[in-house]
Amino acid sequence: MDGWHRRSRIRLQKIILTENQKEILSNHAEQENPNESCAILFGKEIQKSIKVEKIFLTKNIEQSPVNFTISAEQRLEADKIERDSKLKIIGIFHSHPNTEAYPSDTDKKFMDLNPGVWVIFSGVSKNFRAYVLESEIKEIPIE
Ligand SMILES: [Zn+2]
Repeated sequence: MDGWHRRSRIRLQKIILTENQKEILSNHAEQENPNESCAILFGKEIQKSIKVEKIFLTKNIEQSPVNFTISAEQRLEADKIERDSKLKIIGIFHSHPNTEAYPSDTDKKFMDLNPGVWVIFSGVSKNFRAYVLESEIKEIPIE
């Protein structure tokens, strides 16, 4: 693990999610309940903000209430969307059906491998929270 590279990753100030996008994501979370749901977020970086422009709802192939995995096929599909749409994959969404929207130890491990914004929805409080990993995990506001 190289701390320098980690610190040099994006320094975001905020992520912009519309009410409609939040509804799409929370509905997806409800549908996948009691398991975690997941999605890939596409968007644009505008200065130090990220604007979400497209959501790709994915399947949690683990079908677990405490973990999620996106299939290799859907990750390839996301790469294709990225190439075809000129939007960038800017982050990952997943839900915590039974806990608050804070990164779990597993999430922290995967944040290191999948940089970008991690948006988490809590089925308990119905809150969205977003995180980026710089030298450590930092919460950023959702607008
Ligand atoms: Zn999680």
